[in-house]
Amino acid sequence: MTLRLFNTLTGQLDPLTPADGRALRMYACGPTVYDFGHIGNFRTFLHIDVLRRFLHLSGIQVRHVMNITDVDDKIIRNAAAAGQPIGEYTAPFEEAFFEDLDALRVERPELIPRATDNVPQMVALIQRLEKQGAAYRTEDGSWYFRIAAFPAYGKLSKKDLSGMEDGARVDVDEYEKDSSRDFALWKAAKPGEASWETPLGRGRPGWHIECSAMAMEYLGESFDLHAGGEDLIFPHHENEIAQSETATGRPFARHWMHVRFLLVDGRKMAKSEGNFYTLRDLLLKGYRASAIRLALISVPYRHPINFTFESLTDATGAIDRLRTFRSRLTSGEFPEGQNPAVEAAALAAREAYRAALANDLNTADARAPVFELVRSANTAMDKGEFFAANRESVLQVLADFDRVFDVLEDRDLEATRRALAWAEKSGRMADVAPELKASASISDAEIDTLVAERVEAKKQRNFTRADQIRAQLAEKGIVIEDAKDGTRWKRK
Ligand code: AMP
Ligand code: ZN
Repeated sequence: MTLRLFNTLTGQLDPLTPADGRALRMYACGPTVYDFGHIGNFRTFLHIDVLRRFLHLSGIQVRHVMNITDVDDKIIRNAAAAGQPIGEYTAPFEEAFFEDLDALRVERPELIPRATDNVPQMVALIQRLEKQGAAYRTEDGSWYFRIAAFPAYGKLSKKDLSGMEDGARVDVDEYEKDSSRDFALWKAAKPGEASWETPLGRGRPGWHIECSAMAMEYLGESFDLHAGGEDLIFPHHENEIAQSETATGRPFARHWMHVRFLLVDGRKMAKSEGNFYTLRDLLLKGYRASAIRLALISVPYRHPINFTFESLTDATGAIDRLRTFRSRLTSGEFPEGQNPAVEAAALAAREAYRAALANDLNTADARAPVFELVRSANTAMDKGEFFAANRESVLQVLADFDRVFDVLEDRDLEATRRALAWAEKSGRMADVAPELKASASISDAEIDTLVAERVEAKKQRNFTRADQIRAQLAEKGIVIEDAKDGTRWKRK
């Protein structure tokens, strides 16, 4: 089933397939590593992860490049304030970014180039633009792109640029969203700033040229898809198109995907608004990484969403339902035979799931039939109408679901423990929810041992010991549930 994905450039759903018939070449703008990412940033990376995982599920190979922006105005400013070279300043934030991606189970792109490792490619691209008369140098030694050299400027953002002034310039990385000006390709070195000695003079690259140069270096001049958050449409992506297509005379990316914002009370979650949560903030409050993943991907990427704690609680409940169901499915004993109604429900769920994802990655419509199947299969089990030969097809639906959603395996404790270790190291223990400290102090294996001991104690009719173990675990926020088909436990 071919994925039809909204394309910001054409304004419609376009089929997304590899132009070379082999691997889909995609570039996603990565983080600027000047601080910890907030969960708004991760909403974007998570939906790009949904895309790559669905492509894999559909049998399409992917060559996915994500850059690390490790030089920009904010980094230079913060590193100077900390009295550090920029690389020393950014290293811990880059490491934290990957730790957070791992906690959220975001698959690694095939290539993750750093801007500072690709400066010669940026310089070469600017030189190419200069030859075409599209780049010019100003008195202070900076270089600008002349947007009048690219008549199609504005085609991505659909901005009306009639009031555009030829030669008006802007040199900061972030600027008012509506100003269309010649933008900086290369910034002349200022005293004390990180800079490179190059044929363009001493200086450093502008933000937009970084992405054009790295995308073309690793994917070629024309490639399949470019992605990022909606705030990147203008000016960042508009500028990438202008400079790349001017240089090569060929279309840059065919398809543009933009993830809408995670909002707080209707406003973009952003560092500058002070309304943000980092992943660590939420893990230390006791929310599970898998619940954060599920909550952030369950609303389709083309809808803005308001962040709420309630959505995390709902996601926790949904994950518990799925995990409990899967263990009932794999460890329960069912009579021989097959119920055709269950088979039909499983097949329909699997098709509806894939069709919803193929329809512009509609994650909300995709998860609905899976949860509906869980409900109907649970009912069939309760009534004795679920048979051994139904197991495989239902498991297959869960496997397809988890290939993209990836929340069934419980690896949450690992992520929480890493966050706790970080809190300890950075003096943030006061932010840790007390129940979490208790729960994280006992491992799954230790709980398994105690639960097995309790089952044995009950068999021996040693109820004092069994109750003691239940109480000991309850103190750590572990709940034991005795069901017909065995004893289960979970962390609250
Ligand atoms: P940055 O590290 O600021 O360059 O941002 C990394 C990615 O996060 C970019 O693709 C941004 O568009 C995206 N982004 C920033 N804020 C939000 C938000 N509130 N919701 C969704 N994506 C965002
Ligand atoms: Zn970019």
